[in-house]
Amino acid sequence: MKTVAITAIDNEYIIGKILCIGRNYVDHIKELDNEEPSAPVVFTKPSTAVVYNDGQVKIPPFSTDCHYEAELAVLIGQDGKDIAEQDALEYVAGYGVAIDMTLRDVQNRLKQKGLPWDIAKGFDTSCPLSDFTPAADVADPQQLNIRLLQNGTERQNGSTSLMINSVAKIISYLSGIFTLEEGDLILTGTPAGVGKVAAGDNLEAIIEGVGKVRVLVV
Ligand code: MG
Repeated sequence: MKTVAITAIDNEYIIGKILCIGRNYVDHIKELDNEEPSAPVVFTKPSTAVVYNDGQVKIPPFSTDCHYEAELAVLIGQDGKDIAEQDALEYVAGYGVAIDMTLRDVQNRLKQKGLPWDIAKGFDTSCPLSDFTPAADVADPQQLNIRLLQNGTERQNGSTSLMINSVAKIISYLSGIFTLEEGDLILTGTPAGVGKVAAGDNLEAIIEGVGKVRVLVV
């Protein structure tokens, strides 16, 4: 069983489902030549995908094009269904940073056939995850800076103010489809600058004041 920790208050949560939002930043939609969606693009990762700080990402043998996508991660602290947007942030226990590791070649093949993305998004080690910061210590989740460093070189640097759907909107939308439970995680999409990784790479995703996760690609 995978867990996530809010270290500052010594709280640990068993990770439930991991819901992910795709295409939530305009500049990232453009770099992949995708269309801006009329409703949020939703996919999931199993909790077995999680690896922690100083862990390893293992590129599966069936892919030659594995990408990083640094994202703000939201930890749900209480159960909810059909949550109104104005109440949504009350359901958040903490914020952290995740890397949505994506097998772009596999995803593109599946997309072309109209098939689900699970293999491209949910393979073992596809979800590096930081420790979390209490929601009360994050003044505004829409004013955070997300960065990703690959071997020390900055590849992504974007603000959560550029999200198409805000954290509150995402929680409200998802809770109309899935009952949210304590321990669920939401990955909120990536800003521009995604790219390919190679064995031996060091990846570091950082959200100032929220969390940091560093992994080695093998
Ligand atoms: Mg993503």
